[in-house]
Amino acid sequence: MEPSTAGKRHPATVVIIGAGVFGLSTALHLRKSHPDVDVTVVDRMRGNRGGASSDHNKIIRADYPDPVYMGLAIEAQECWRKDPMLQPYYHECGMLFAEDINIGRASYANYKKIGQEPLSGRADTDAEYNYYNPHSGWGEAEEAMASVFQAALDAGVTFTEATARKLLPAPDGSCQGVTVQKDGELQDLVADLTVVCTGAYTAKLQADTAPERDELQVAGRMVAAAAVQCTATYPPDQEEKLLQAPVHFIGMWHTHGESIPPFKGRLKFNCEVSFLNMTYHEGLGKEISIPPAEQSQSTFSQDVLDGLKQEVANVVRNKYGNYVPGIQIENYRMCWDAVSPNQDFVIDYHPHCNNLIIAGAGSFHSWKFLPTIGKYVVQRIMGTLDEPLARKWAWDRENVGAACEMYIPTRDVKNIGPFQGWPRPGELVPVAQ
Ligand SMILES: Cc1cc2nc3c(=O)[nH]c(=O)nc-3n(C[C@H](O)[C@H](O)[C@H](O)COP(=O)(O)OP(=O)(O)OC[C@H]3O[C@@H](n4cnc5c(N)ncnc54)[C@H](O)[C@@H]3O)c2cc1C
Repeated sequence: MEPSTAGKRHPATVVIIGAGVFGLSTALHLRKSHPDVDVTVVDRMRGNRGGASSDHNKIIRADYPDPVYMGLAIEAQECWRKDPMLQPYYHECGMLFAEDINIGRASYANYKKIGQEPLSGRADTDAEYNYYNPHSGWGEAEEAMASVFQAALDAGVTFTEATARKLLPAPDGSCQGVTVQKDGELQDLVADLTVVCTGAYTAKLQADTAPERDELQVAGRMVAAAAVQCTATYPPDQEEKLLQAPVHFIGMWHTHGESIPPFKGRLKFNCEVSFLNMTYHEGLGKEISIPPAEQSQSTFSQDVLDGLKQEVANVVRNKYGNYVPGIQIENYRMCWDAVSPNQDFVIDYHPHCNNLIIAGAGSFHSWKFLPTIGKYVVQRIMGTLDEPLARKWAWDRENVGAACEMYIPTRDVKNIGPFQGWPRPGELVPVAQ
Protein backbone atom coordinates (compact mmCIF):
# COMPACT_ATOMS: atom_id res chain seq x y z
CA MET A 1 0.00 0.00 0.00
CA GLU A 2 1.27 3.50 -0.84
CA PRO A 3 1.93 5.75 2.14
CA SER A 4 -0.57 8.61 2.42
CA THR A 5 0.71 11.76 0.72
CA ALA A 6 -1.88 14.00 2.37
CA GLY A 7 0.86 15.82 4.26
CA LYS A 8 2.64 17.55 1.41
CA ARG A 9 1.79 20.99 2.66
CA HIS A 10 2.85 23.38 5.35
CA PRO A 11 0.38 24.00 8.23
CA ALA A 12 0.40 27.44 9.89
CA THR A 13 -0.99 26.20 13.23
CA VAL A 14 -0.37 22.84 14.86
CA VAL A 15 -1.80 21.44 18.08
CA ILE A 16 0.03 18.47 19.58
CA ILE A 17 -1.86 16.40 22.15
CA GLY A 18 0.50 14.75 24.65
CA ALA A 19 3.81 15.94 26.10
CA GLY A 20 5.63 12.61 26.21
CA VAL A 21 8.63 11.68 24.12
CA PHE A 22 6.71 11.82 20.84
CA GLY A 23 4.84 15.07 21.57
CA LEU A 24 7.70 17.11 23.04
CA SER A 25 10.27 15.97 20.51
CA THR A 26 7.87 16.82 17.68
CA ALA A 27 7.09 20.24 19.13
CA LEU A 28 10.76 21.13 19.49
CA HIS A 29 11.80 19.88 16.05
CA LEU A 30 8.83 21.58 14.43
CA ARG A 31 9.56 25.00 15.92
CA LYS A 32 13.27 24.70 15.21
CA SER A 33 12.85 23.64 11.59
CA HIS A 34 9.78 25.83 10.86
CA PRO A 35 9.83 28.86 13.18
CA ASP A 36 6.83 30.32 11.33
CA VAL A 37 4.57 27.48 12.51
CA ASP A 38 2.50 28.23 15.59
CA VAL A 39 2.80 25.16 17.88
CA THR A 40 0.67 24.39 20.94
CA VAL A 41 1.23 21.33 23.13
CA VAL A 42 -1.64 20.13 25.31
CA ASP A 43 -1.19 17.72 28.17
CA ARG A 44 -3.35 17.08 31.18
CA MET A 45 -0.33 17.51 33.39
CA ARG A 46 2.92 19.41 33.13
CA GLY A 47 5.68 16.93 33.87
CA ASN A 48 4.01 14.01 32.10
CA ARG A 49 3.27 12.14 35.36
CA GLY A 50 1.54 8.89 34.49
CA GLY A 51 2.75 8.93 30.89
CA ALA A 52 5.23 6.24 29.91
CA SER A 53 7.92 8.87 29.32
CA SER A 54 7.76 9.89 32.96
CA ASP A 55 9.98 7.64 35.05
CA HIS A 56 12.91 7.36 37.43
CA ASN A 57 15.27 6.50 34.56
CA LYS A 58 15.24 4.73 31.20
CA ILE A 59 17.60 2.53 29.23
CA ILE A 60 19.39 4.01 26.23
CA ARG A 61 20.82 1.39 23.91
CA ALA A 62 21.27 0.76 20.22
CA ASP A 63 21.22 -3.02 20.66
CA TYR A 64 18.38 -3.97 18.35
CA PRO A 65 17.88 -7.08 16.25
CA ASP A 66 16.18 -4.79 13.71
CA PRO A 67 18.91 -2.87 11.82
CA VAL A 68 16.58 0.09 11.17
CA TYR A 69 16.05 0.71 14.88
CA MET A 70 19.73 0.10 15.55
CA GLY A 71 20.57 2.88 13.07
CA LEU A 72 17.97 5.21 14.56
CA ALA A 73 19.18 4.49 18.09
CA ILE A 74 22.82 5.09 17.17
CA GLU A 75 21.75 8.47 15.80
CA ALA A 76 19.81 9.26 18.98
CA GLN A 77 22.69 8.11 21.18
CA GLU A 78 25.04 10.55 19.46
CA CYS A 79 22.68 13.34 20.58
CA TRP A 80 22.58 11.94 24.11
CA ARG A 81 26.37 12.11 24.16
CA LYS A 82 26.79 15.53 22.58
CA ASP A 83 23.67 17.72 22.81
CA PRO A 84 23.97 20.07 25.84
CA MET A 85 20.18 19.79 26.26
CA LEU A 86 20.51 16.05 27.06
CA GLN A 87 24.14 15.18 27.69
CA PRO A 88 24.03 16.00 31.46
CA TYR A 89 21.32 13.37 31.90
CA TYR A 90 23.01 10.52 30.03
CA HIS A 91 25.12 7.83 31.72
CA GLU A 92 27.05 5.40 29.55
CA CYS A 93 27.65 2.59 32.02
CA GLY A 94 27.39 -0.32 29.56
CA MET A 95 24.66 -2.95 29.28
CA LEU A 96 24.81 -6.69 29.83
CA PHE A 97 22.33 -9.01 28.14
CA ALA A 98 21.92 -12.37 29.83
CA GLU A 99 19.34 -13.98 27.62
CA ASP A 100 18.53 -16.85 25.34
CA ILE A 101 16.10 -15.03 23.05
CA ASN A 102 18.67 -13.92 20.50
CA ILE A 103 18.75 -10.17 21.14
CA GLY A 104 22.47 -10.17 21.88
CA ARG A 105 23.51 -12.34 18.95
CA ALA A 106 21.35 -10.43 16.47
CA SER A 107 22.51 -7.04 17.79
CA TYR A 108 26.14 -8.15 17.65
CA ALA A 109 25.68 -9.28 14.05
CA ASN A 110 24.08 -5.93 13.16
CA TYR A 111 26.92 -3.98 14.75
CA LYS A 112 29.42 -6.02 12.76
CA LYS A 113 27.52 -5.33 9.54
CA ILE A 114 27.92 -1.60 10.10
CA GLY A 115 31.59 -1.97 10.97
CA GLN A 116 31.34 -1.52 14.73
CA GLU A 117 32.06 -4.17 17.29
CA PRO A 118 30.92 -3.91 20.91
CA LEU A 119 32.66 -6.11 23.43
CA SER A 120 30.90 -9.40 23.87
CA GLY A 121 31.53 -12.63 25.67
CA ARG A 122 30.34 -15.09 28.22
CA ALA A 123 29.67 -13.84 31.72
CA ASP A 124 28.96 -15.82 34.84
CA THR A 125 25.26 -16.59 34.31
CA ASP A 126 23.37 -19.54 32.93
CA ALA A 127 22.04 -17.71 29.88
CA GLU A 128 22.79 -19.40 26.60
CA TYR A 129 24.68 -16.38 25.32
CA ASN A 130 25.81 -13.23 27.08
CA TYR A 131 26.40 -10.01 25.27
CA TYR A 132 27.93 -6.86 26.71
CA ASN A 133 27.93 -3.45 25.09
CA PRO A 134 29.97 -0.79 26.87
CA HIS A 135 28.34 1.90 24.68
CA SER A 136 24.85 1.50 26.12
CA GLY A 137 23.55 3.19 29.25
CA TRP A 138 20.63 5.03 30.75
CA GLY A 139 19.05 8.48 31.01
CA GLU A 140 17.56 10.47 33.88
CA ALA A 141 13.95 10.48 32.79
CA GLU A 142 12.28 13.42 34.57
CA GLU A 143 15.35 15.60 34.14
CA ALA A 144 15.76 14.92 30.41
CA MET A 145 12.04 15.40 29.75
CA ALA A 146 12.08 18.67 31.70
CA SER A 147 15.09 19.85 29.69
CA VAL A 148 13.34 19.17 26.37
CA PHE A 149 10.16 20.76 27.71
CA GLN A 150 12.07 23.93 28.56
CA ALA A 151 13.85 23.90 25.20
CA ALA A 152 10.46 23.66 23.48
CA LEU A 153 9.13 26.64 25.46
CA ASP A 154 12.31 28.58 24.65
CA ALA A 155 11.78 27.78 20.98
CA GLY A 156 8.32 29.38 21.15
CA VAL A 157 6.04 26.41 21.80
CA THR A 158 2.91 27.23 23.83
CA PHE A 159 1.94 24.75 26.54
CA THR A 160 -1.65 24.31 27.70
CA GLU A 161 -2.40 22.18 30.74
CA ALA A 162 -5.75 20.62 29.84
CA THR A 163 -7.39 17.29 29.13
CA ALA A 164 -8.29 16.50 25.53
CA ARG A 165 -11.87 15.24 25.55
CA LYS A 166 -12.41 14.78 21.78
CA LEU A 167 -10.83 15.63 18.49
CA LEU A 168 -12.73 18.50 16.88
CA PRO A 169 -14.44 17.40 13.67
CA ALA A 170 -14.96 19.79 10.76
CA PRO A 171 -18.25 19.50 8.81
CA ASP A 172 -16.44 17.47 6.11
CA GLY A 173 -15.26 14.90 8.70
CA SER A 174 -11.67 16.13 8.80
CA CYS A 175 -10.00 17.22 12.04
CA GLN A 176 -9.78 20.90 12.94
CA GLY A 177 -8.25 20.68 16.40
CA VAL A 178 -9.29 19.37 19.77
CA THR A 179 -11.87 20.04 22.46
CA VAL A 180 -10.13 20.29 25.81
CA GLN A 181 -11.29 20.61 29.38
CA LYS A 182 -9.39 23.23 31.30
CA ASP A 183 -10.31 24.40 34.79
CA GLY A 184 -13.68 22.70 34.42
CA GLU A 185 -14.52 24.50 31.16
CA LEU A 186 -14.65 22.99 27.69
CA GLN A 187 -12.84 24.93 24.98
CA ASP A 188 -11.93 24.29 21.38
CA LEU A 189 -8.33 24.61 20.23
CA VAL A 190 -8.54 25.06 16.46
CA ALA A 191 -5.52 24.24 14.30
CA ASP A 192 -4.61 23.45 10.70
CA LEU A 193 -3.05 20.19 11.84
CA THR A 194 -3.63 18.04 14.94
CA VAL A 195 -0.90 15.64 16.06
CA VAL A 196 -2.07 12.94 18.47
CA CYS A 197 0.78 11.81 20.74
CA THR A 198 -1.31 10.40 23.58
CA GLY A 199 0.52 7.08 23.92
CA ALA A 200 -1.53 4.42 25.70
CA TYR A 201 -4.59 6.71 25.75
CA THR A 202 -4.87 6.97 21.95
CA ALA A 203 -7.48 4.25 21.44
CA LYS A 204 -9.74 5.86 24.06
CA LEU A 205 -9.38 9.34 22.59
CA GLN A 206 -10.34 8.08 19.13
CA ALA A 207 -13.25 6.10 20.56
CA ASP A 208 -14.49 9.08 22.61
CA THR A 209 -14.23 11.31 19.53
CA ALA A 210 -16.46 9.38 17.15
CA PRO A 211 -17.41 5.90 18.33
CA GLU A 212 -19.74 5.53 15.35
CA ARG A 213 -16.88 5.98 12.86
CA ASP A 214 -15.26 2.54 12.61
CA GLU A 215 -12.67 3.80 10.16
CA LEU A 216 -11.34 6.31 12.71
CA GLN A 217 -10.66 3.75 15.44
CA VAL A 218 -7.25 2.49 16.43
CA ALA A 219 -8.44 -1.12 16.02
CA GLY A 220 -5.37 -2.92 17.37
CA ARG A 221 -2.76 -0.64 15.81
CA MET A 222 -1.81 0.88 19.18
CA VAL A 223 -2.90 -1.21 22.14
CA ALA A 224 -2.63 0.10 25.71
CA ALA A 225 -0.36 -2.32 27.58
CA ALA A 226 1.64 -2.04 30.79
CA ALA A 227 4.63 -3.62 32.45
CA VAL A 228 5.33 -3.51 36.16
CA GLN A 229 8.32 -1.63 37.55
CA CYS A 230 9.72 -0.94 40.97
CA THR A 231 12.26 1.25 42.67
CA ALA A 232 14.35 -0.11 45.52
CA THR A 233 16.68 1.17 48.20
CA TYR A 234 19.94 -0.49 49.27
CA PRO A 235 22.29 -0.19 52.25
CA PRO A 236 24.66 2.79 51.78
CA ASP A 237 27.70 0.52 52.13
CA GLN A 238 26.63 -1.29 48.96
CA GLU A 239 26.63 1.84 46.79
CA GLU A 240 30.23 1.59 45.62
CA LYS A 241 29.62 -1.92 44.35
CA LEU A 242 26.32 -0.98 42.70
CA LEU A 243 27.73 2.07 40.96
CA GLN A 244 29.96 -0.24 38.95
CA ALA A 245 27.01 -2.27 37.65
CA PRO A 246 25.91 -2.01 34.02
CA VAL A 247 22.30 -1.87 32.92
CA HIS A 248 21.20 -5.48 32.93
CA PHE A 249 18.71 -7.24 30.71
CA ILE A 250 17.71 -10.75 31.79
CA GLY A 251 15.71 -12.76 29.29
CA MET A 252 15.64 -16.33 30.56
CA TRP A 253 12.63 -18.56 31.17
CA HIS A 254 12.62 -17.83 34.91
CA THR A 255 13.30 -14.08 34.72
CA HIS A 256 12.15 -11.45 32.24
CA GLY A 257 13.41 -8.08 33.31
CA GLU A 258 15.82 -5.22 33.44
CA SER A 259 17.70 -3.33 36.09
CA ILE A 260 19.28 0.12 36.03
CA PRO A 261 22.15 1.05 38.38
CA PRO A 262 21.62 3.51 41.25
CA PHE A 263 20.28 7.00 40.66
CA LYS A 264 19.33 9.24 43.60
CA GLY A 265 19.86 6.30 45.94
CA ARG A 266 17.36 4.09 44.12
CA LEU A 267 17.69 1.05 41.86
CA LYS A 268 15.03 0.55 39.21
CA PHE A 269 13.72 -2.77 37.90
CA ASN A 270 11.22 -3.69 35.17
CA CYS A 271 9.45 -6.99 34.67
CA GLU A 272 8.93 -7.29 30.94
CA VAL A 273 5.86 -9.53 30.89
CA SER A 274 3.20 -7.04 29.81
CA PHE A 275 -0.58 -7.01 30.18
CA LEU A 276 -3.75 -5.28 28.99
CA ASN A 277 -6.63 -3.65 30.83
CA MET A 278 -9.66 -4.58 28.73
CA THR A 279 -12.44 -2.14 29.58
CA TYR A 280 -15.97 -1.75 28.22
CA HIS A 281 -16.26 1.45 26.15
CA GLU A 282 -19.88 2.63 26.20
CA GLY A 283 -19.76 4.40 22.83
CA LEU A 284 -18.06 1.56 20.98
CA GLY A 285 -20.20 -1.03 22.71
CA LYS A 286 -17.21 -3.31 23.20
CA GLU A 287 -14.02 -3.73 25.20
CA ILE A 288 -10.73 -2.07 24.36
CA SER A 289 -7.61 -1.83 26.48
CA ILE A 290 -7.55 1.48 28.40
CA PRO A 291 -5.13 2.46 31.19
CA PRO A 292 -6.90 2.61 34.58
CA ALA A 293 -8.32 6.04 35.43
CA GLU A 294 -6.78 6.23 38.92
CA GLN A 295 -3.47 8.09 38.77
CA SER A 296 -2.00 5.76 41.40
CA GLN A 297 -2.32 2.95 38.84
CA SER A 298 0.04 4.58 36.37
CA THR A 299 2.52 6.29 38.72
CA PHE A 300 4.89 4.92 41.39
CA SER A 301 2.74 3.90 44.36
CA GLN A 302 1.64 0.80 46.29
CA ASP A 303 -1.53 0.54 44.19
CA VAL A 304 -0.40 -2.53 42.23
CA LEU A 305 -1.72 -6.11 42.39
CA ASP A 306 0.19 -8.46 44.71
CA GLY A 307 0.88 -10.84 41.81
CA LEU A 308 2.59 -8.05 39.85
CA LYS A 309 4.56 -7.02 42.92
CA GLN A 310 5.77 -10.61 43.19
CA GLU A 311 6.68 -10.71 39.48
CA VAL A 312 8.96 -7.69 39.73
CA ALA A 313 10.35 -8.92 43.07
CA ASN A 314 11.41 -12.03 41.14
CA VAL A 315 13.50 -9.78 38.86
CA VAL A 316 15.08 -8.05 41.85
CA ARG A 317 15.92 -11.36 43.49
CA ASN A 318 17.39 -12.94 40.38
CA LYS A 319 19.34 -9.86 39.38
CA TYR A 320 21.45 -9.29 42.49
CA GLY A 321 20.77 -12.42 44.58
CA ASN A 322 23.05 -12.55 47.60
CA TYR A 323 25.68 -10.39 45.93
CA VAL A 324 24.02 -7.20 47.22
CA PRO A 325 22.28 -7.86 50.55
CA GLY A 326 19.61 -5.52 51.92
CA ILE A 327 17.84 -4.36 48.74
CA GLN A 328 14.33 -3.23 49.71
CA ILE A 329 11.57 -2.54 47.19
CA GLU A 330 10.10 0.89 47.85
CA ASN A 331 7.44 1.65 45.21
CA TYR A 332 5.76 -0.13 42.33
CA ARG A 333 4.29 1.13 39.12
CA MET A 334 2.25 -0.05 36.17
CA CYS A 335 3.77 1.84 33.26
CA TRP A 336 1.30 2.11 30.34
CA ASP A 337 2.47 2.42 26.75
CA ALA A 338 0.89 1.96 23.32
CA VAL A 339 2.11 -1.20 21.61
CA SER A 340 1.81 -1.91 17.89
CA PRO A 341 1.58 -5.49 16.58
CA ASN A 342 5.24 -5.56 15.49
CA GLN A 343 6.44 -2.79 17.84
CA ASP A 344 7.10 -0.41 14.94
CA PHE A 345 6.07 3.18 15.60
CA VAL A 346 2.99 4.68 14.01
CA ILE A 347 3.82 8.03 12.42
CA ASP A 348 1.27 8.82 9.76
CA TYR A 349 -1.62 10.91 8.56
CA HIS A 350 -4.86 9.24 9.42
CA PRO A 351 -6.04 7.88 6.07
CA HIS A 352 -9.70 8.52 6.93
CA CYS A 353 -9.45 11.91 8.62
CA ASN A 354 -7.64 14.80 6.98
CA ASN A 355 -5.39 17.12 9.00
CA LEU A 356 -4.80 14.50 11.66
CA ILE A 357 -1.46 12.81 12.34
CA ILE A 358 -0.93 9.99 14.83
CA ALA A 359 2.57 9.62 16.28
CA GLY A 360 3.25 6.96 18.87
CA ALA A 361 3.16 3.23 19.49
CA GLY A 362 6.26 3.54 21.64
CA SER A 363 5.95 -0.22 22.17
CA PHE A 364 8.08 -0.26 25.35
CA HIS A 365 11.27 0.88 23.60
CA SER A 366 10.91 4.48 22.39
CA TRP A 367 12.10 6.73 25.17
CA LYS A 368 15.69 6.68 23.93
CA PHE A 369 14.53 8.39 20.73
CA LEU A 370 13.60 11.58 22.62
CA PRO A 371 16.31 13.63 20.83
CA THR A 372 15.38 12.55 17.32
CA ILE A 373 11.89 11.06 16.93
CA GLY A 374 10.32 14.49 16.42
CA LYS A 375 12.50 15.05 13.37
CA TYR A 376 10.83 12.09 11.68
CA VAL A 377 7.35 13.21 12.71
CA VAL A 378 8.05 16.63 11.20
CA GLN A 379 9.29 14.97 8.01
CA ARG A 380 6.02 13.02 7.87
CA ILE A 381 4.06 16.24 8.43
CA MET A 382 5.87 17.98 5.60
CA GLY A 383 5.77 14.95 3.30
CA THR A 384 9.55 14.49 3.20
CA LEU A 385 9.94 11.28 5.23
CA ASP A 386 11.91 8.61 3.35
CA GLU A 387 9.50 6.21 1.76
CA PRO A 388 10.78 3.05 3.51
CA LEU A 389 10.27 4.70 6.91
CA ALA A 390 6.90 6.10 5.85
CA ARG A 391 5.85 2.57 4.93
CA LYS A 392 7.30 1.05 8.12
CA TRP A 393 5.42 3.56 10.30
CA ALA A 394 2.23 3.78 8.25
CA TRP A 395 -1.21 3.59 9.88
CA ASP A 396 -2.12 0.78 7.49
CA ARG A 397 0.75 -1.66 6.92
CA GLU A 398 1.69 -5.29 6.98
CA ASN A 399 3.38 -5.32 10.43
CA VAL A 400 6.23 -7.53 9.31
CA GLY A 401 9.19 -8.35 11.57
CA ALA A 402 9.43 -7.35 15.20
CA ALA A 403 11.42 -4.59 16.90
CA CYS A 404 11.01 -6.02 20.43
CA GLU A 405 8.73 -9.05 20.22
CA MET A 406 8.97 -10.01 23.88
CA TYR A 407 6.91 -6.97 24.87
CA ILE A 408 3.68 -8.12 23.19
CA PRO A 409 0.91 -8.49 25.82
CA THR A 410 -0.76 -11.90 26.10
CA ARG A 411 -2.81 -11.50 29.30
CA ASP A 412 -5.16 -9.11 31.07
CA VAL A 413 -4.42 -7.46 34.40
CA LYS A 414 -7.71 -8.77 35.82
CA ASN A 415 -6.49 -12.35 35.42
CA ILE A 416 -3.17 -11.94 37.17
CA GLY A 417 -3.07 -14.03 40.33
CA PRO A 418 -0.29 -14.85 42.78
CA PHE A 419 3.07 -15.32 41.04
CA GLN A 420 4.06 -18.97 40.91
CA GLY A 421 7.06 -18.72 38.62
CA TRP A 422 7.15 -18.46 34.83
CA PRO A 423 6.59 -21.60 32.78
CA ARG A 424 9.64 -23.49 31.54
CA PRO A 425 10.09 -23.56 27.76
CA GLY A 426 7.48 -25.89 26.27
CA GLU A 427 5.14 -25.61 29.25
CA LEU A 428 1.69 -24.09 28.79
CA VAL A 429 1.43 -20.45 29.87
CA PRO A 430 -0.70 -20.57 33.07
CA VAL A 431 -2.37 -17.17 32.61
CA ALA A 432 -5.37 -16.55 30.36
CA GLN A 433 -5.84 -13.34 28.38
C1 LIG B 1 7.76 -0.43 31.94
C2 LIG B 1 8.33 0.34 30.78
C3 LIG B 1 9.70 0.54 30.70
C4 LIG B 1 10.23 1.23 29.61
N1 LIG B 1 11.57 1.40 29.56
C5 LIG B 1 12.11 2.00 28.50
C6 LIG B 1 13.51 2.18 28.44
O1 LIG B 1 14.23 1.82 29.38
N2 LIG B 1 14.05 2.76 27.33
C7 LIG B 1 13.26 3.17 26.29
O2 LIG B 1 13.81 3.64 25.29
N3 LIG B 1 11.90 3.05 26.34
C8 LIG B 1 11.33 2.48 27.42
N4 LIG B 1 9.98 2.36 27.50
C9 LIG B 1 9.13 2.89 26.41
C10 LIG B 1 8.88 4.37 26.53
O3 LIG B 1 8.70 4.76 27.87
C11 LIG B 1 7.64 4.74 25.72
O4 LIG B 1 7.64 4.06 24.49
C12 LIG B 1 7.57 6.21 25.44
O5 LIG B 1 7.79 6.93 26.62
C13 LIG B 1 6.19 6.55 24.86
O6 LIG B 1 6.10 7.94 24.69
P1 LIG B 1 4.75 8.59 24.18
O7 LIG B 1 5.04 10.01 23.93
O8 LIG B 1 4.18 7.78 23.07
O9 LIG B 1 3.70 8.38 25.36
P2 LIG B 1 3.61 8.99 26.84
O10 LIG B 1 4.92 9.26 27.42
O11 LIG B 1 2.69 8.10 27.59
O12 LIG B 1 2.94 10.40 26.61
C14 LIG B 1 1.57 10.53 26.31
C15 LIG B 1 1.12 11.83 26.93
O13 LIG B 1 -0.20 12.11 26.51
C16 LIG B 1 -0.89 12.66 27.59
N5 LIG B 1 -2.31 12.42 27.35
C17 LIG B 1 -2.91 11.23 27.09
N6 LIG B 1 -4.22 11.42 26.91
C18 LIG B 1 -4.45 12.74 27.06
C19 LIG B 1 -5.61 13.54 26.99
N7 LIG B 1 -6.80 13.01 26.72
N8 LIG B 1 -5.50 14.88 27.21
C20 LIG B 1 -4.28 15.43 27.47
N9 LIG B 1 -3.14 14.71 27.54
C21 LIG B 1 -3.24 13.38 27.33
C22 LIG B 1 -0.37 11.92 28.81
O14 LIG B 1 -0.59 12.69 29.99
C23 LIG B 1 1.09 11.78 28.46
O15 LIG B 1 1.85 12.84 28.99
C24 LIG B 1 9.39 1.71 28.58
C25 LIG B 1 8.02 1.54 28.68
C26 LIG B 1 7.49 0.87 29.77
C27 LIG B 1 5.99 0.71 29.84
